[in-house]
Amino acid sequence: MRRTVFNEDHEAFRETLRAFIEAEVVPVHDEWFAAGQAPREFYYKLGELGLFGINVPEEFGGAGMESHKFEAIQYEETSRAGVSFGGSGVHVLLALPYIKMLATDEQKKRFLPKFVSGEEMWAIAMTEPGTGSDLAGMKTTAKLSEDGTHYVLNGAKTFITGGVHADKVIVCARTAAPTAEDRRHGISLFAVDTKSEGYSVGRKLDKLGLKTSDTAELAFVDVKVPVEDLLGEENKGFYYLGANLPSERWGIAFGAYAQAKAAVRFAKQYVQERTVFGKPVAHFQNTKFELAACDSARRGVIRTVEEDQ
Ligand SMILES: Cc1cc2nc3c(=O)[nH]c(=O)nc-3n(C[C@H](O)[C@H](O)[C@H](O)COP(=O)(O)OP(=O)(O)OC[C@H]3O[C@@H](n4cnc5c(N)ncnc54)[C@H](O)[C@@H]3O)c2cc1C
Repeated sequence: MRRTVFNEDHEAFRETLRAFIEAEVVPVHDEWFAAGQAPREFYYKLGELGLFGINVPEEFGGAGMESHKFEAIQYEETSRAGVSFGGSGVHVLLALPYIKMLATDEQKKRFLPKFVSGEEMWAIAMTEPGTGSDLAGMKTTAKLSEDGTHYVLNGAKTFITGGVHADKVIVCARTAAPTAEDRRHGISLFAVDTKSEGYSVGRKLDKLGLKTSDTAELAFVDVKVPVEDLLGEENKGFYYLGANLPSERWGIAFGAYAQAKAAVRFAKQYVQERTVFGKPVAHFQNTKFELAACDSARRGVIRTVEEDQ
């Protein structure tokens, strides 16, 4: 099937990325898998490769694009090689949209150059031990100091992807109580420096999958967050989350597609190599039926996407 969404630039990027993965990731991925995370230094290499700056405006050190296509290629190529880039996915896919949407020019100047180089890795902390889907129920608080110079952050978060290595975390916290009409009112977003006093990383959580992604618990005890690090307007955080969560869903959906494609490819390779009863497994009719069914489902998905641009 001829694909129509990618142009020559995308394909050149794919080639570069494929070579990078072969050289820098495949040889060490088993070690990352066993360690339960990719090493922090690896993210500098992704920065050097230009992966973090694709969708960042040029004036802040990026390539100035507005497209998920390069991320789509990243999903396809990591899946094809059976590897992942650790917890770095949240840096671009989840955190960047908030910075672009909410940060002032002054904040962008402070945040984005280090974001692009990988010097500062970002994560986002919404979920709490007692609150997941029902985010309006979050208990973490940020109280403005009397002199108005900073907020004092207290609370705990869990399941935070990239939480072990993160240098900056977008923390969602209550700055006001919910109103009778709107439970979602009163949440604000902060760009919190993970080196702040009172900020600590708890357990790195063991998971069934996503083994190289560092998923952590975080705790905040009287963490001082300068008012300059509030993202967007106070108390409007829930609406910002609502606006940005769809891009995360896009990533999950495309990642699932890319892995399905890779799974069919790996299975095909295996049945062609493996011999039983004197012939390759691929020669048995049922194997052909099953693989064809899987690949048709996969092709159906991408056809729908490509035809509905
Ligand atoms: C690998 C991984 C990475 C993650 N990374 C991050 C991250 O980077 N940052 C972050 O903030 N969070 C992260 N999360 C947390 C994730 O967003 C939450 O797990 C999710 O919001 C669900 O919350 P919960 O696990 O507390 O489940 P709950 O909300 O407590 O739900 C429990 C069960 O109730 C069901 N349920 C919920 N609502 C309804 C309903 N209305 N009707 C019927 N059933 C319902 C759910 O399907 C689930 O089965 C991550 C989670 C995982 C597993």
